Order: sequence, then C-alpha cells, then structure tokens
Amino acid sequence: MSKLFGTFGVRGLANRELTPKLAFELGLALATHLNGKGKIAVGHDNRTSSEMLEHALIAGLTAGGCEVLKLGLTPTPVLSFATRHFSCDAGVIITASHNPPEYNGIKFWDSEGAGFERKREREIERIVFKGGKRVNWQYIGRVSEADALEPYIDAMLKRVPKFKRGLKVVVDCGNATGSVVTPRLLRELGCKVVSLNCQLDGTFPGRKLETVPENLGELAKTVVACKADLGVAHDGDADRTLIVDERGEILSGDRVFALVALHYLRERKRPRIVTTVATSAVLDDVASKLGGDIARTRVGEPEVVGEFRKRGGDIGGEENGGVIFPDWLLCREGIMAAVKFIELLDRTGMKVSELNSTLPRYSQIKQRAKCPEELKPKVLKALAKRFVKYKLDRTDGLRVIFDDGWLLLRPSGTEPIFRCFAEARDEERVEKLAKLGMRELKECIRKLS
Ligand code: MG
Repeated sequence: MSKLFGTFGVRGLANRELTPKLAFELGLALATHLNGKGKIAVGHDNRTSSEMLEHALIAGLTAGGCEVLKLGLTPTPVLSFATRHFSCDAGVIITASHNPPEYNGIKFWDSEGAGFERKREREIERIVFKGGKRVNWQYIGRVSEADALEPYIDAMLKRVPKFKRGLKVVVDCGNATGSVVTPRLLRELGCKVVSLNCQLDGTFPGRKLETVPENLGELAKTVVACKADLGVAHDGDADRTLIVDERGEILSGDRVFALVALHYLRERKRPRIVTTVATSAVLDDVASKLGGDIARTRVGEPEVVGEFRKRGGDIGGEENGGVIFPDWLLCREGIMAAVKFIELLDRTGMKVSELNSTLPRYSQIKQRAKCPEELKPKVLKALAKRFVKYKLDRTDGLRVIFDDGWLLLRPSGTEPIFRCFAEARDEERVEKLAKLGMRELKECIRKLS
C-alpha cells in the first residue's frame, strides 16, 4: 500500500496524481469512516483545479451518506473556524498551500477544527485502498451552502480591539485566498492597507506562494516605496505569515513567531511554548524571557497540535511562519498572526526593526539535497553514525547540537529531498556548520545510491 498522506494532507499534481477519482474516493472514505452520517464543511482555495476537486469530493461524501456544507472560497484558518462554528463533524479543505499552481491537495479536519491525527489519516488511507461504502438512494447526503467569512471576521473583531496608530500595511496575498480576508480585516481594525497581489488568480502570476525571502522582493520594495510601517505576506492558504520591516528587511518565520509569542503571552504565568525541532533558538530565549517552558516536537502542524492535546500549551509555531493560538483555533493561523503582530506594533509604538532588534540575532542557512524516497531511512542512519561524537536529538531527523549552534538534517515529508538547516550566533560559524551538514549529507546520499 502506498502512502497517500504527507505532512499536510494528500498532495499531488492536479488531474494527474490528485484526480477527480481520487477526490471522490477520499470523500467516500471520509463518509465511510464517519459511518455514513454527519455534516462536513468543505472549503477550497482559488486554484484552477479546486472547483473540479470540490465537486468530486462532495459527490463522494454524499454518496457515502454525509451532509455537506459548501463554504466556497476559504482560507485554511477560516475552514478550521467554520468546522467548529457550524458544529460540523469534520471539515475538508482543498488547497496545496504554498505549492505551485499545478498542484492541489486535500486535507481533513476534525470537529474541533484541528487537522486529522495521523491515526485517522491512516484509517482513511486504508478505506481508500479497500473501497468506501456507498449508501442506498434514500440516504444520499444533501448539500447546502454557508458563508464562513462573515462570522469569522465578526469573531475576530470581537477578540481584537481596534488599533490606534493607523499603521500603514502592505498586504501581499500572492493572488491566493488570503485576499478575501486579510486586507478587509486589517482595514476594519484601523490600518491603512495597500494591497499587492490581492486579485484572485489561480495561476498565481504575482509571485511564488511560499513565504520565503526570495519570493518577497516585490513586497519589500513596495513597503519602502510606500513608506509603509510593515509588509504582511501570506502563503497560498493564509495559514502562514511573514513580515517585512519598514526598511524592506524580511523577518524569518521563527522571528515572527517569537515576537508574536512574546506579545501574546506577556501576561501569562509560566507560559508553555510548543514548537518543532526546526525552529530557531530565539524561541528558547523568548521562553526564558517570559519565565516559561518550551517543548520541541517533530516537524508538522499535527505534531504541534498533538502536543497541545497531550500536555497543553499557550502558543505553538513553526519555522515557516505558521503560528497556532490554541485558545482561538487548533490550526496554523496566518491571519491571526498578522493581526497579533500589528497589535504588538500598535501597543508598543515601536518600529518593526526596533522590535526585531530586541531579540538576540542568529544566522541561519537553509539548504536541501535531492534524495530518493526509498533512500531516506538509510541516509538518516548513516548520518547518525557520522555525527555520533556530538550531542544528538532524534525527535525528527537528526538535530546535531553544538555549544554555539545546531544543525538539523531531516528528510522532507512531502518532497524527495533532505533538508539541512544550520543556525549559529554569527555568519562565519553558521557557514561552517552548513558546509559540514551538506558535505556529510551529500556523501551519505552518494554512497547509498
Ligand atoms: Mg499553508
């Protein structure tokens, strides 16, 4: 049995790997898993394939006896919100997040608005391969439509007081689904919004969707040219956010997370931060500044959410700019992250660059090496042997801990690559660590090929 689910649901090339047939089977499998009853919220992004997959998925869900609440165009955090708001038994989002336009994906959410646990994903997988159960004609599910955007924006406005400074924000949604919420919400909260790439276009002509510095050059330039206070960028489904400071410098995802955490947790006693092995040591600094604790999990949203469920926590986040506010939604929330970041600026009266400089500086290098899927476990084993004389953390991949930095060598859950992250206090040292990591990684891959 091959594996359908990666780190974030099922992903693939639309109409080739992720076909209408597979979408139907996934819908039928979810309905079968729920014993042919229950109400399912279904939302999608604005990819050219999303409506096709939506129709097929809904056919599967209703063929299996489930009732469907069609939400239409929905950023991922809004789907999580809607699943709870409309008391659904599960939710499904059709999106490939930051992947190129030719991809798409399907991800399941539970009744609490959290992504399905691995165990439930495996159960769905098993049903897909075995074949789901279609119901008799009188039990076929019905389809209705609902608007989730208004209640989401209302709930957000109830939680967040209006900003006072009238900050000027350039919002770059990459022509994707964040466009339907973030510019409007920030305006309602009192910001002056300049929108960039906020016209919906499923070919994503404005920029690549991943919120990494190399894709945000236009945003950085626009922030400077408009003399804006900051720039906000979302990935394709708005569950991640990156921030650009007033000088056009891009803050890494973990620094955005760190600053938001510092602000969000400022009044809590011994707060607990949940993050992964791939985030910066700046989170450890934030945890100790707050007199709190930090827990590091495997990489991926389900791992962070799973830790909240097992042992609790006050905020969660990842190095890619995904932040989870568990008392709001059990899902990476790029829109709330942007709102909380701006609230921090509004409250302190500081510039983004000044805020950023309140945290210790770290240098990071992120690289990747191609590695066939079947080699990954062997490469990991070989790497562990090569680094045996250092302190190792094997929570996920291999984290090599040095006195003055760390190195993470980890197979990707979605692509045939190995990632190599290095972090240290200065550039010279981080370059050395990154070089060491890539050299060992490439040698292991070469020898085992
Ligand atoms: Mg995303």
